[in-house]
Amino acid sequence: MNAIELKNISKTFGEYTACRDVSLAIQSGEFVTLLGASGCGKTTTLNMLAGLEDPTTGDIMMHGKRVNDLSPVQRDVAMVFQNYALYPHMTVARNIGFTLKMRGMEAAGIRARVEAVAASLELSHMLDRLPSQLSGGQQQRVAIGRALVREPKVFLFDEPFSNLDASLRMKMRAEIKELHQRLGVTSIFVTHDQEEAMSISDRIAVMHKGRIEQLGTPEEIYSRPATRYVATFIGNPRIELTPGIVVEEGGRSYCEAGSTRIPFAAKVEAGREVEVGIRPEYVRLSDEQGTPAIVRLVQPVGPTTHVTLEWEVGTLFCSIPGFVRLAPGTRTRFEIDAAKTLVFDRALGTLFN
Ligand code: ATP
Repeated sequence: MNAIELKNISKTFGEYTACRDVSLAIQSGEFVTLLGASGCGKTTTLNMLAGLEDPTTGDIMMHGKRVNDLSPVQRDVAMVFQNYALYPHMTVARNIGFTLKMRGMEAAGIRARVEAVAASLELSHMLDRLPSQLSGGQQQRVAIGRALVREPKVFLFDEPFSNLDASLRMKMRAEIKELHQRLGVTSIFVTHDQEEAMSISDRIAVMHKGRIEQLGTPEEIYSRPATRYVATFIGNPRIELTPGIVVEEGGRSYCEAGSTRIPFAAKVEAGREVEVGIRPEYVRLSDEQGTPAIVRLVQPVGPTTHVTLEWEVGTLFCSIPGFVRLAPGTRTRFEIDAAKTLVFDRALGTLFN
């Protein structure tokens, strides 16, 4: 049985449609991320799951039951927001235990549960502090603790790390993933950060203009993006798309762009107008062979160096392991791994297999 199922959910605010016919089935224990640019409808979708917004049309199912008419409390979901919304006048212990107290649990039981949750989040030594005496990351852990203590069937996270600095965000990502591995609670996470989504999710739903554009594992989304939009949204440096026409020669297919032929493996008939997408790690630089290009920008980031090339028909990004000593303006050549080249229908923007 699916833990959660959205069936043809739409949501309009007046004239504006925030979600269009969203369908999504999430298995028990899965970690699914709604990923997309600002305004694509992710938070609205999450709020409908939480019971904070009503869908205009469609059904929300949880554990096999329709929950459209249930209140947030009745749905047994716990939500962690980007502004942690801790009670400033309450200690960490009281913040974490608050919902248990509201449920009428007796003090000793609350204390035991709060201590167990605090231990799992490494907050044990901070239970007597006020939120103002904690760092951003510690406050976020208290917010997670407050959700955790309820032992909900479902966790909902709305950009929980967006107020944290980069290094803390990385740390919290690992903590959330580790927590999920340990507890296995069905989790739905909202972010606009593709790398964050890739690093923590079992599956990712890429949203665009209120629709789910693709649902898949991080590997599927990255390696087989269903559309041009998904291909360009995922990956850093981003994929570069080059328009061209398909030609066949000697049983092989190429995209003809300017005087260059870019090889690819997908089956596309000759004459078709396409765009080829090349991920930076599948571009190799060579001195003798390949397509001529000029180095425009060299950006070392440690494990790799991002090199921006300019060639006959446009720009191309490549990432090369380690540090590369190349001066801007250098003439070079590049080659592309045909098996990894993605080909999209130019008019429809969809991937050819
Ligand atoms: P962000 O990352 O910026 O939070 P999002 O993908 O989560 O974006 P939503 O918050 O779901 O986007 O909003 C989707 C669209 O619906 C936006 O254009 C937003 O302006 C609109 N919207 C959301 N809530 C309301 C509302 N209560 N009334 C009117 N329009 C709304």
